[in-house]
Formats: sequence, structure tokens, C-alpha cells
Amino acid sequence: MFSWTAWRRKRLRARPFPLAWQETLGFLPVLHGLSTEEQRKLQGLIHVFVAEKSFEGCGGLEMRDKIKVVIAAQAALLILHLHHDFYHRVNSILVYPSTFRHNMMHRQGDGTVAAVNQSHLGEAWPGGPVILAWDSAYQGGRRADDGQNTVIHEFAHKLDMLDGTTDGIPPLAQDLDPPSWRTDFTAALENHQRALKAKRPHLIDAYGATSPAEFFAVASENFFERPVALKQEEPALYQRMAAFFRQDPARRQA
Ligand SMILES: [Zn+2]
Repeated sequence: MFSWTAWRRKRLRARPFPLAWQETLGFLPVLHGLSTEEQRKLQGLIHVFVAEKSFEGCGGLEMRDKIKVVIAAQAALLILHLHHDFYHRVNSILVYPSTFRHNMMHRQGDGTVAAVNQSHLGEAWPGGPVILAWDSAYQGGRRADDGQNTVIHEFAHKLDMLDGTTDGIPPLAQDLDPPSWRTDFTAALENHQRALKAKRPHLIDAYGATSPAEFFAVASENFFERPVALKQEEPALYQRMAAFFRQDPARRQA
């Protein structure tokens, strides 16, 4: 059946990739090591992403192509080999110049809910926008070996949310053997929590231990930025992430 969306996307993907955009990608080592075919595919995804999403500068930030491309490229890396619909629930991407403060409802230990005003580098709202701090979105891509990447983190949350729940488990295709995927993922999270308790050094930072959803987001940052170390430290988790994303970034860095 004819689909206007598919037709429009096909045309967008076939567009030549602007030289200035290409230069921007060169500043993002997290993208290095992709094959020529993967680079071409990524460029097509960036074209569609930039055309379809509404990028809005907030807090005085003036929106420009470089910002869109840096965000689109890193978001596109996650879905490079997935069956996907361009994060279809994300219509807008709001970008602040730097850390932004936000009122959030927080459930406290006694069960009451309080509004807290917190600083954020990024947020992914279920069914809503992704909000990012531009300096950290850019630095996250520029420094690709510290396991900290706000764009990957927030868009990993968006993949997790695709099945309607934010539980660290994105929709899993049957060939991934979902029950064992979940078992290995949960075991890795518990292992991480035990390591923190015992003050054992661990690749994944403490924030990853706060919930399965954060563990998936932080594991995704490490999967793309420090794949070799993650594979060494958490081989089962690495294999499950590689199976989910259908990518093997450790091989790209070998
Ligand atoms: Zn998070």
C-alpha cells in the first residue's frame, strides 16, 4: 500500500548530505568506525530526523543546524540497525544552552508527593519531548570514551518507553529470546548494585543502580562509548545489548 510517510522519507534519505553537516559528524568520535554503508544509512536517518522533529531553542538558545545534526546523529546511532519508526512518539526536542532547572513531582519515602526543583542535563518524557542541555549534548559526543552521553541516555529511555512502560526493557523481538534477555539484564543490574554496596570499582556509574530504566540508559551510554571495557566487565550484558541494538561497537574499536 502506498504511504506518503514512506515516500517522503525515501526522498529525504536520498538527499545529498551537506558538507557542513559532514564536518559536524567528524567532531563526534562516537560515530567513528562505522562502515561506509552504515555512514550513508546514518546520514539518511539524520535527514529524516532533522526534517520531522521540531527542534526548539529554550532559555535563549538560538536553534541552528549544527545543534540539530549533533543531536540527530547520536539519536540515529541507536536505531541504525533497528526496525524503527524514528522515535515516533517524540515530536519535539527542546534544547537549553546548559543545565536547566525543572520542577518535577517526586514521590518521597513516606509516600507523599512533593515538587522539587532540580538541575538537569536531559530528560525524556513518556509520550512527550526530549529535553537536552546543548553543552552536554555536544560534549557527550565529543568525548566518546568516558561513558557519558546525554543524547544516547535520553534516547535509550525513549526506546525503553516504546512499549508503554519505562522499566529498562525495550520491546524485544522474538529472535532475542526475551525471557533470557530479561534474566541477563536483571542479573547485570543486581551485580552492579552489589558492586556498589561492596564499594568495588565498576564501569557503570552509581546512577545506573537507581532503577532498571536508568540502568538500561547508562548501559547504553557505555555500550556505545566504552564497548570494549563493557564487554570485558559485563560480557553477558554486552551480548544482550549487542543483540538488542544489532550492533557490535567493540568490533568497531578493535
Ligand atoms: Zn535517565
